[in-house]
Amino acid sequence: MADHISLFQETQPSLESYWRSVILFGRNVASYKFALAKSLLEIAPTGRTEISLEALAEPFSRHLCEHIAHSPKQVTSRGSRFLDTCRAYNDGLATRDALLQATVKNGFNNVIDAFHVVGGSELPIQFYTKDYSAPARKIILTDEIFKLQDASFSSNLAMEAEARWRLVETAWEQQISAGLLAIEYSEIGDLLSINTKNRRKTVTSARAALNGYQKGKCFYCFDDISIGDSKSPSPIIRPENLDYTFAEPEPPLLLVSEKAPTYGTDTSSLCDVDHFFPHTLQRTLPGANLNGIWNLVLTCRHCNRGENGKSARVPALKYLERLHTRNEFLIHSHHPLRETLMAQTGATTAERISFLRGVDAEAINYLIHRWETETVGEEEF
Ligand SMILES: [Zn+2]
Repeated sequence: MADHISLFQETQPSLESYWRSVILFGRNVASYKFALAKSLLEIAPTGRTEISLEALAEPFSRHLCEHIAHSPKQVTSRGSRFLDTCRAYNDGLATRDALLQATVKNGFNNVIDAFHVVGGSELPIQFYTKDYSAPARKIILTDEIFKLQDASFSSNLAMEAEARWRLVETAWEQQISAGLLAIEYSEIGDLLSINTKNRRKTVTSARAALNGYQKGKCFYCFDDISIGDSKSPSPIIRPENLDYTFAEPEPPLLLVSEKAPTYGTDTSSLCDVDHFFPHTLQRTLPGANLNGIWNLVLTCRHCNRGENGKSARVPALKYLERLHTRNEFLIHSHHPLRETLMAQTGATTAERISFLRGVDAEAINYLIHRWETETVGEEEF
């Protein structure tokens, strides 16, 4: 695992990569780091550098209260006094002041120190430092978090944190230990969903979940892509929009409302979710779930549907290798999708290679044509 983490950082040791390593690889025993990440992304644009724990408590507890309302399990341990207070606040049994006080007292106990720990050691850079010398404890934002704000596509980061949070809490909720989290891509809208006991639950945006690994680049040509504008209302984060419906006959209307064109204003670089092996093969390949996360990549529109776009052709072998690398990367990152990927493509690396080769052989047999495009940006993964 360590190798994969260092590879991830060396490939593009940018601030964004470090930030993403926190979101993707940090320890997941509680969801607090996601709440902290979202709070930091919210506070940074104000330009303030010294943030008291009192000030931090507001966004931090707000994000947790929001999530605990739809996903009660936010820690792997049995419980927490802080989360009890969040619950009480949601139920109208605790005042906002009580919530904020409890947050300052118990909410930050581990997360402030643990945030920058990835793969067992501290990152070489920090997005904040802490100053607990005075009775009024505070954190001090570093230049790094402000630079992150300036980076292109920084608006994706909040959505990615949200997507990762949703996947983690879903895994906990389902008590996933092996292969049961059958996450699938819904073609109606940009959503990943799971089917459990005849219920379909939407999990998160496919774009936001996959983008962390592609670092804002098209899977095929490395051109810049966007997963949308985080300033636009994001329906998936509001508990009232969390919909449980029966899998049959069709997904809830919510999915439709999340269709890509409703995001943001500039849609020119808004990415497509592409089936690496074209979905048209599904009937001829009943053994492979082509809606599975293993077969989904984010692409620019040019590659997916342009004149020389991929369409129903089979990607060149170099892309197959890239897909394998991506899937191995997800598996070794302890992502909640790890089990899903392994269930869909094989338990060992050798099995997964053989699975991909098998699908590729059948695909080219049916579709005949290989497809390749010119590389636009620098090769990033
Ligand atoms: Zn492209």
